[in-house]
Amino acid sequence: DTIGDNFDRTVAAFGDRDALVDRPSGRRWTYRELAAEVDALALGLLESGIAKGDRVGIWAPNRAEWTLIQYATAKIGAILVNINPAYRSHELEYVLNQAGIRLLVAADKFKTSDYAGMIDEVRPRCPDLTHVVLLGGEEWNSLLRNGRNGDAEQLAGIAVTLSADDPINIQYTSGTTGFPKGATLSHHNILNNGFFVGELCNYTEADRICIPVPFYHCFGMVMGNLAATSHGSCMVIPAPAFDPKATLQAVAEERCTALYGVPTMFIAELAEPDFDSYDLSSLRTGIMAGSPCPVEVMKQVIERMGMAEVSICYGMTETSPVSTQTRADDSVERRVSTVGRVGPHLEVKVVDPATGLTVPRDTPGELCTRGYSVMLGYWEQPDKTAEVIDAARWMHTGDLAVMDGEGYVNITGRIKDMVIRGGENVYPREIEEFLYTHPDILDAQVIGVPDAKYGEELMAWIRMRAGATPLTAESLRAFCSGKLAHYKIPRYVHIVDEFPMTVTGKIRKVEMRERAVELLE
Ligand code: ATP
Ligand code: MG
Repeated sequence: DTIGDNFDRTVAAFGDRDALVDRPSGRRWTYRELAAEVDALALGLLESGIAKGDRVGIWAPNRAEWTLIQYATAKIGAILVNINPAYRSHELEYVLNQAGIRLLVAADKFKTSDYAGMIDEVRPRCPDLTHVVLLGGEEWNSLLRNGRNGDAEQLAGIAVTLSADDPINIQYTSGTTGFPKGATLSHHNILNNGFFVGELCNYTEADRICIPVPFYHCFGMVMGNLAATSHGSCMVIPAPAFDPKATLQAVAEERCTALYGVPTMFIAELAEPDFDSYDLSSLRTGIMAGSPCPVEVMKQVIERMGMAEVSICYGMTETSPVSTQTRADDSVERRVSTVGRVGPHLEVKVVDPATGLTVPRDTPGELCTRGYSVMLGYWEQPDKTAEVIDAARWMHTGDLAVMDGEGYVNITGRIKDMVIRGGENVYPREIEEFLYTHPDILDAQVIGVPDAKYGEELMAWIRMRAGATPLTAESLRAFCSGKLAHYKIPRYVHIVDEFPMTVTGKIRKVEMRERAVELLE
């Protein structure tokens, strides 16, 4: 199937059901209403000369138009390019030229981002960019108007020329470990992934999914939008960018059955002072993913948010994204402490990064994955693609994992984040899990810092709970002593209010390491 065919089938089956709720603007659409807007927009794009294979950029925080553009471009086979809403002009210029974007749809401004101003600034240096459409502006209205007067049969004609293996989307990675890379993905890649993620969450037309994660990232547009539309479920947008209160309010008022987030988002929601005043009783499930999911936080999500069937997904932009997922019928112990088993129609293996050979079960190594989900490649970067996808089409993830005898996978961290202290391999994840058990610690991250004697030493960055006395290196060591092996006990402690983060809510350990070196000077 193409994304457009799949969407039309849902519209035919569930036309009168809620499809999309945009809380900030107060607008809502049934599937039939949404389809009319999507088709108008698709025809409007055709009218302005956008054809199959052309790149259409979208640069905006979460709002309904993001979703409209996603399905409209899919219907005409244009390649949607997701642009990080936190970008500044220099990065924008890079993406516009790297992906050769012809038409850019953008928000006018949001918070401190003057999108329109930055576009004007870089436009003279972006020769491929022929159209700029500001959301809510005259160009946007005329796209829709032209489309409404357009010829619906034209769309049906286009549909037959599309193939599920065509590239449909360029998604940039989060940029957690360096400069983001543009993963080129097909209908087949992302539609299947969204569909199977939804299957394992048991979504039906009765589900209402609260999506506070950015649409620009695969978590929002695939695990959110495509999982919803391929099952007739409703998408609920709580706010343009993550806001814990707005999210809790959306769940309560829209009676959401599922809630998404990276761990830092759930941590923020659970720490809201008036958390108990929100009625979250409609929640059944949801997804935590994107970074290591602390066991303590998972337990609270089940107990205090009532997300009894909550699922952990593991994946990456390059694999559409999900490779492994926990199922509702897995034991609670496994659902809080592993990333589940391989998804339907996919393969995973754990290899020794040095030899490439598969290691025995229960032995750490690099996780590799293969199947329908593996991207077509990095956009116009064949060398970078060849570094991660081998001749047998295995994607080498750069993540360290252990697989048990029954196929449950545990992610122990990124290869780049592993610390080697005095010859011992230390996995920060294990220490972070232990630190979360301290009653005064809200959030903890552990990194390696250069050390003359041991090669590397451990430093813990800690966010304290409101009102708690800040920990010192001594009090932290006392807490760890006798519970962690001596070489895993952090030597340095740094108390912070916030960690350096990506827009997708991931903690940038690269930046922490740079700042730590300065702190120790
Ligand atoms: P970049 O590749 O640009 O450095 P990134 O890897 O963070 O950034 P994404 O594709 O958004 O970009 O994230 C994929 C990565 O997120 C995975 O490789 C893994 O390290 C981490 N990840 C995702 N889900 C989980 C999870 N459930 N547990 C642990 N880590 C996870
Ligand atoms: Mg990555």
